[in-house]
Amino acid sequence: MTLRGKTILVTAAGQGIGAASALACAKAGAKVYATDVNADLLTKMSGVEGIETRVLDVTDVAAIDALAAELPDLDGLFNCAGVVHHGTILELDDAAWEFSLNLNITSMVRMCRAFVPGLLRRAESEGSASILNMSSMASSEKGFVQRTAYGATKAAVIGLTKAIAADFVAQNLRCNALCPGTVDTPALQGRIQAAPDPVQAEKDFIARQPMGRLATVDDLTPTVVHLLSDGSSFITGQSVLVDGGCTI
Ligand code: NAD
Repeated sequence: MTLRGKTILVTAAGQGIGAASALACAKAGAKVYATDVNADLLTKMSGVEGIETRVLDVTDVAAIDALAAELPDLDGLFNCAGVVHHGTILELDDAAWEFSLNLNITSMVRMCRAFVPGLLRRAESEGSASILNMSSMASSEKGFVQRTAYGATKAAVIGLTKAIAADFVAQNLRCNALCPGTVDTPALQGRIQAAPDPVQAEKDFIARQPMGRLATVDDLTPTVVHLLSDGSSFITGQSVLVDGGCTI
């Protein structure tokens, strides 16, 4: 699976799934723009072959538009940024809802709107271009407790993905959604440590995975690379579950 000759932008590439994906894309031969809101996290990427870093807050529409104007046309865009709100609808105040909506879905609308013109130019000249949007198994795929804002916004990601895929299918621009199970990342560890009983919280996260283990970021990156590569050229508009059998 090669990404040689491709230019790919990854959001939320400072740590976790985004960082592993940026590194995997570069290893597969792509020129990668690794972006994150946190400049400190990006420093560990500096000097990695094939990677250039940019600070980007995906909730800042002016910054998105400025970056799209600055960068060359992309062959691939991985919208990875997102946040988990923990709670039922009874714990979801308007501020928390707005925050989830903004980071999990509005940011993707704005990223796609800014970068699709360039992706379409590459699709026309190279025969393919690909968008990957980060959703989750906790979405329209499956309901989970304490995930109202998360499930609703990640379901919206799947709707956005299918609509973009439908609009541009004849122009060779593909768009898919990635739906992981529970992945061991700094964000997940933060949720575990914030729980009243972290040991029990980790056991509970593992218990909902039928394989009896959490996913590692390395369980996901081959699928990320595949969906951004021409190896997946007949796959579009799909929510691709990498969930260790959670939704069987
Ligand atoms: P993480 O916390 O480990 O990494 C998230 C990164 O996002 C951080 O580097 C952070 O600085 C960056 N970020 C936060 N706000 C940002 C903003 N406004 N603009 C740009 N970057 C920003 O998280 P993760 O667990 O790797 O999750 C990444 C994505 O994967 C999220 O969309 C999440 O919903 C999704 N996901 C995670 C899991 C899981 O179990 N970890 C499962 C399914 C889906």
